[in-house]
Amino acid sequence: MKGVLNFDPESLKTPVYIMDESLLKKNLETLKYVIDKTGCKILLAQKAFSMFSVYPLIGKYLQGTTASSLYEARLGREEMEGEVHIFSPAYKEEEMEEILSLCDHVVFNSFSQWGKYKDMLRKSSRHISCGIRINPEYSEIETDMYNPCFTGSRMGVTLSQFRTSELEGIDGLHFHTMCEQNSDVLWRTLKVVDEKFGQYIAGMKWVNFGGGHHITRNDYDLDTLIECILFIKDKYKVQVYLEPGEAVALNTGFLVARVLDTLHNGMDLAILDTSAACHMPDVLEMPYRPEVIGAGKPGEYAYTYRLGGPTCLSGDIIGDYSFKEPLKPGDTLVFCDMGHYTMVKNNTFNGMGLPSIALWSQEKGTQVIKEFGYEDFKMRLS
Ligand SMILES: *Cc1c(COP(=O)(O)O)cnc(C)c1O
Repeated sequence: MKGVLNFDPESLKTPVYIMDESLLKKNLETLKYVIDKTGCKILLAQKAFSMFSVYPLIGKYLQGTTASSLYEARLGREEMEGEVHIFSPAYKEEEMEEILSLCDHVVFNSFSQWGKYKDMLRKSSRHISCGIRINPEYSEIETDMYNPCFTGSRMGVTLSQFRTSELEGIDGLHFHTMCEQNSDVLWRTLKVVDEKFGQYIAGMKWVNFGGGHHITRNDYDLDTLIECILFIKDKYKVQVYLEPGEAVALNTGFLVARVLDTLHNGMDLAILDTSAACHMPDVLEMPYRPEVIGAGKPGEYAYTYRLGGPTCLSGDIIGDYSFKEPLKPGDTLVFCDMGHYTMVKNNTFNGMGLPSIALWSQEKGTQVIKEFGYEDFKMRLS
């Protein structure tokens, strides 16, 4: 694995998530390029990536964070300079006061929620900019699980439900209808948003394009993104916000694991010290097949194995991979692109321990930032 990775995976206690700071910086440079070209503001969507030890670095490039909940809002306020935004499908009364003490933008999912908290916001000592999430009823996402525009979606206000008479105090509109997509999708989405909601954008201060923009992917078309931002900015004289999660951490993190055992049942199997269900749940939920360094598709190399986790869940399977050499206990495997939607989603099902969190940087080499133990399992139970 020498030459491919900056860190030495053999030296690490597994399982461990390790972030490569130089790769993260590369992504942040790309995002900064978009900011500089357009004057848009870009926020980290913490839902995807909350490794707060690198927030100070991210804060040097981006304008702040966005949150899906009170706790994320607090983390963003505590750990990064800049703005804190929040969107939630519905806010809890007992949390609202604290949310207002932390956030600069609050986005409401309905006019009833806006109506409920309007007075509280008016009385707030801090200036808070309020927005409404719209549902343009246009999305090119095939999987319903990730499509905020599917029939009966609870995400955002459709045009027929939009209450023109209740816009006083609303500064912006927010839409989030994309998932891992390129800017051609944004362009088509924006046309629909403009046609349906342009009349309302005209009176606003900002428009938030949400997340799902795969800005840091190799084949991403930055020019079209820039065109999209400038189109809305110039037409309506509004501040444009983007709040990518995945794009910030895309291809920057790894999960290093070891083989515990190999066995055979109609095919070769390997049991690892990491679990799809606990440590990379999107492998089962999306589902998708993460890349493993040095491994190929089944049959591509001489030795094909089905990789599974150490839990009792039969379906705790990462996928089928082939290797040039047979696997044996103690072998190290490195899973790619494990920075986003992993640490924020992991769990201790089956009493599984949580992977440690490490950072590799040019200056400091490999640092293990956090390790977890029995208490992290017990703490959430009673
Ligand atoms: C999930 C989400 C994001 C981030 O999405 P990515 O796909 O990680 O870029 C941004 N905004 C909202 C409202 C979200 O729900």
